[in-house]
Amino acid sequence: MKVLIAGGGIGGLAAAAALLQRGIDVDVYEQAEELKEVGAGIQISPNGNKVLDALGVFEGLRQLSCDPERKEFRLWNTGRPWPMFSLGKAVIEKYGYPYLTVYRPDMHDALAQRVRALKPDAIHLGSAAAACAQDAEAAELQLRDGRRVWGDVLIGADGVRSVVRNSLWGPTDPAFSGMVAWRGLIPMEVLPERMQASVGTTWIGPGGHAVSYPLHRSKYMNFVATIEGKAWPDSVGSMQGTVEECLADFKGWHEDVQVMIRHSPRLLKWALMQRDPIPAWTQGRISLLGDAAHATLPFLAQGAVHSIEDGLVLARCLEGVATADVPAALQRYEAARIGRTSKMVRGATANTERFHSRELATEATAEAYLQREWSASPIHDRYHWLYEYDARTASI
Ligand SMILES: Cc1cc2nc3c(=O)[nH]c(=O)nc-3n(C[C@H](O)[C@H](O)[C@H](O)COP(=O)(O)OP(=O)(O)OC[C@H]3O[C@@H](n4cnc5c(N)ncnc54)[C@H](O)[C@@H]3O)c2cc1C
Repeated sequence: MKVLIAGGGIGGLAAAAALLQRGIDVDVYEQAEELKEVGAGIQISPNGNKVLDALGVFEGLRQLSCDPERKEFRLWNTGRPWPMFSLGKAVIEKYGYPYLTVYRPDMHDALAQRVRALKPDAIHLGSAAAACAQDAEAAELQLRDGRRVWGDVLIGADGVRSVVRNSLWGPTDPAFSGMVAWRGLIPMEVLPERMQASVGTTWIGPGGHAVSYPLHRSKYMNFVATIEGKAWPDSVGSMQGTVEECLADFKGWHEDVQVMIRHSPRLLKWALMQRDPIPAWTQGRISLLGDAAHATLPFLAQGAVHSIEDGLVLARCLEGVATADVPAALQRYEAARIGRTSKMVRGATANTERFHSRELATEATAEAYLQREWSASPIHDRYHWLYEYDARTASI
């Protein structure tokens, strides 16, 4: 069995590691000339850490990451805190694994090293997918430089603007949501001591929110601030911005938010893309995973986590399967994943209003709003099903 994967991001590499571990041959075709990830943070909830453990990279990554004590909300202007949920030991007791905040390059490196340990020449750089095709016996990936490669399976893990997805299903790129996310990485030592706690904070206010959490053994504070009502050029996914522009977007927000903006050595702006879930991923020997399949707003912090869950479930579905039975195995994979990931996409979209409600304008209206939307019971309903899932044993 030979599997071709277009895209060597977090999702593509996790799938490659899971397949190689099962003795299935894999080649990954990545458009970039070198393997690298954006220097920013990513939250990996217990369901994601179960997958990383199955892939043999969890303990190493845990050593490089942070395990915050709790998540809390703070009001955009006064800074008043409200609890969101306990992390640390409480999460380990409940789900068996921690909730880690991880430096993205650490995670990407760990997965790439794992893939290369299993097959040294599995990752082909400078290899952009251009189109795909198939017949009853094989799937074909056509590369932008004219090369053509064949396998028993082709997986599009090529992100939000997936060539493989658009080849299968026509133009299905997500649209710009009108929201821009500012991302900064702040050296921890430049922040005042009161802001160095091991806590994940979500600053919520009308029309925007900002998230901060420690990274890379608390060497950095990750800062992501989302604002509504922006324009964006179609052709690019991200661009450099300035401190002045970001301060203007968050005018009137609490001093601690302003401090994080002012202390970010570099601020990048990202277009947040949005689309309703597509109804099918698979045709014959070709399927999708990660953002290519279920592009999402990042407001449940599950996009990458669900990408690696996909990879493990895909590998389980292909394990021991005869090449003639690949189409049925891919249908099993899609059936196991599409309901869960569609619910995640919708949940992330619904969190836009929950983080940006006009009722968050003042402390008095925010108090009632948080009681209604963010007390223990609605939080449990919206998050428990995400974290309790185990891709190692979920039915396929
Ligand atoms: C601001 C922000 C914060 C986020 N925070 C979190 C979080 O806390 N937790 C979480 O789980 N998720 C988070 N996410 C979501 C997460 O980043 C994505 O869901 C995740 O990166 C998806 O992984 P992927 O491998 O599917 O796609 P990608 O990471 O986009 O990787 C796709 C890969 O394919 C390559 N590629 C693209 N086109 C081609 C082509 N034609 N041929 C070959 N290769 C190609 C790309 O170069 C890239 O390497 C966040 C996203 C944003 C924007």
